Amino acid sequence: MPRTFRIAERLANNRSGGILDIPHPAILDHSSLDGLISNFTSTYDAEPVGVVLPVASTDGLLFPVEGLDNQRSRYMREATFIQTVTQCGQRGLDVYLSVDPRLQFLSSDALHVEDIVGNGSQQICVNKELSQEVLSAILGTGFDLASDALATLQNSASVKGLVLDAVDLYGMGAKKNRIHLVCFCRDCSAYFESASPGLLRVFKTFPNPWSLLLRDSGSGIEHVDEVGSTARPTDVVGLARQRGYDEHFGDTSSAALSEHAEMLLKYMRLRHDQTAASLNAVFSQALEGVDAAVDRILICEGAPYLWTAGMFSDALDVDTRFTELWVDTANAIVPVKTQYRAYHWRRARYLIDAFFQLSTTLTSEVERATTKIAHRSRASVERQLRDRLAQALAAKAVGKTALSTMATHSAAEGGRVGFVGVGLTNDVGQKIIDSLNIAEGLSSNDDNVDSEHPLMGLLRQFSEENS
Ligand SMILES: [Zn+2]
Repeated sequence: MPRTFRIAERLANNRSGGILDIPHPAILDHSSLDGLISNFTSTYDAEPVGVVLPVASTDGLLFPVEGLDNQRSRYMREATFIQTVTQCGQRGLDVYLSVDPRLQFLSSDALHVEDIVGNGSQQICVNKELSQEVLSAILGTGFDLASDALATLQNSASVKGLVLDAVDLYGMGAKKNRIHLVCFCRDCSAYFESASPGLLRVFKTFPNPWSLLLRDSGSGIEHVDEVGSTARPTDVVGLARQRGYDEHFGDTSSAALSEHAEMLLKYMRLRHDQTAASLNAVFSQALEGVDAAVDRILICEGAPYLWTAGMFSDALDVDTRFTELWVDTANAIVPVKTQYRAYHWRRARYLIDAFFQLSTTLTSEVERATTKIAHRSRASVERQLRDRLAQALAAKAVGKTALSTMATHSAAEGGRVGFVGVGLTNDVGQKIIDSLNIAEGLSSNDDNVDSEHPLMGLLRQFSEENS
């Protein structure tokens, strides 16, 4: 009989605290909760202790929210949401509720992000007070509905935590080496102007400080993210030189580049403070008047600087406003102060969200009416979706091996308290694509017509560079 080696002991130590993430309601259209749980259990050799359910979909709300229009998702209705929460409670599983704060289905221009040159995109800016009110109403209503459903069970099941998916709050685009970051809406601009007068003006020129760490690769944006919150200008200049990013600058003297680096760091730190405060405001409003202790959780990619989240991982780690971080620990940073769970998917939810977002965009009647998507053939749209699914699935961490090679489980204050596995498989993903109502295009010409659509640009960003 084979002996037991150390790696098996590691696995045994590491498999507690597992949570099953269901990032999008479409998954439950093609797989039962029981099926997802048994798949999780066979993948990790351990049952999950909790389940994450979404409170909104990419295409609309799952239940009515007072004060908001009734744009409803075609994937899940209030009754199914409550039924799923109840099933989790009956199995003794903790319930977590998550939302992707972009809410692309909201068609209010007043809430949308804008890039540095004033182009808007169909996703909301979390830094606007109004956006925070919308997000907290959705999350808070979901919390109330779920809590009421669990209260009828008379066991200890409860809503354990609220989860904000913070992987892609700020899209990036580039054209001819000009980097266009979001968000510079009126509220964001006012924030920067009052915190550091004149700073934004510097970013409206070219080359500007972003070019030290970001570069247009032609098909996306190459970036340097090895910058922590305490980095000095000389560190940034060193990284830029090492990557050859300093070539955009006419004056490449240390003094000139350091000046750019100083402004870049100022921008990054202000953006961090602004974003963390906004996310905290969403949690606070969603839980206003709630006595129970509810975890406030952020899903992040885990790199030292999170460009599309606008935050530093090390600064989040010491931010006591957030109870837990769910990060792709294979990516780099392991929190040491805040409790965390290892998110078992490279880049956390980034590529998963991109797949679901694309499937909504390509089948949306509004998108078809207002963009050139309607001209694309069904085959071309399907092909793009299957590519995006394959890209997302390629980033999945491999079950037990990934589990046993994680940092050892720690009971210390800032240790890893578990891990997160995602209920998205190739089988479910293919079924989701097959069930989409993709209209036959007006033309069989599959020229790259999506390139002019701003949302497609945002979705494409980054996706090539890691492939
Ligand atoms: Zn903004």
